[in-house]
Amino acid sequence: MPSESAVCVYVGEELAQYGFGSGHPFGPDRLGAFWEHAKRLGLDQRVSITAPVLAEREAIERFHTADYVSRVEHQSASGQGFLDYGDTPAFPGVYEAAGYVVGSVLDAVQRVIDGRCRRAFVPIAGLHHARRDSAAGFCVFNDCGVAIETLRRVHDVQRVAYVDIDAHHGDGVFYAFESDPDLIFADLHEDGRFLYPGTGRRTETGRGSAAGSKLNVPMPPEANDQTFLEAWDVVEDFVRRRQPEFILLQCGADSLSGDPITHLRYSARAHQHAAARLCALAEKCCEGRLVALGGGGYNRSNLAAAWSSVIGALLDCSG
Ligand SMILES: [Zn+2]
Repeated sequence: MPSESAVCVYVGEELAQYGFGSGHPFGPDRLGAFWEHAKRLGLDQRVSITAPVLAEREAIERFHTADYVSRVEHQSASGQGFLDYGDTPAFPGVYEAAGYVVGSVLDAVQRVIDGRCRRAFVPIAGLHHARRDSAAGFCVFNDCGVAIETLRRVHDVQRVAYVDIDAHHGDGVFYAFESDPDLIFADLHEDGRFLYPGTGRRTETGRGSAAGSKLNVPMPPEANDQTFLEAWDVVEDFVRRRQPEFILLQCGADSLSGDPITHLRYSARAHQHAAARLCALAEKCCEGRLVALGGGGYNRSNLAAAWSSVIGALLDCSG
């Protein structure tokens, strides 16, 4: 049976620093909003609170090009300009802030692999839009992509499942691994005809030898918990059949009703369900190995409720 400290949760000022200024949807107050709520629920007494870790440049370059990493470093010093075509501004210290996101996720992966925790949650993470050579959609470094590359190259874990329930399509992960048959990808997102980034059609199932290893499920605007639960069964079956060795869950809270920039209408029950079901699956197929990443979510009480319900599910999971 997992001990009381079976779930590591990453909390610290270094992670809160990843934000684009107060008043921005992705502001630096997101971590605090989540953690205050989690503490009110007593979750801080039940998890192992783990300090953020700064990634080595070499680790970031497992996914990103050296040119792009240098550009982020340069613009981090000046704090000027954009890191993409206009969504993702540089700010002073953005390199370190994004480096702490990646480093904390890699530390979580390491701890789960070596058994120091059974499962882990990194709230400020799951920056799934960043491409290998560019930022995109508030995402500077793609911690999901770096984690997948690190699982392969450092931990010799090949078959990784990436499951994404953020309102936005995880395009930065999807296109980076579109031709990779060992990256099991399943993404429930608001239909791209209505929401950024506009990708993730049902017909996008992987290329070449990877055909069939990817599942994109566009959801209609206004989709609610019932729509989610019906779609979820397909996702779960898809992942189970492909027998992953490690599961990453991007549990973006912007798919909850009341988010200011999306149109889905789930409640935190959707996130609780996804986390509980994947946790049980991980216990069966992956020696329990699961890391959850906070992703988007721009209504503060929504992200607090969704992420707390994910932690609750990870704590209560017994396989
Ligand atoms: Zn999102």
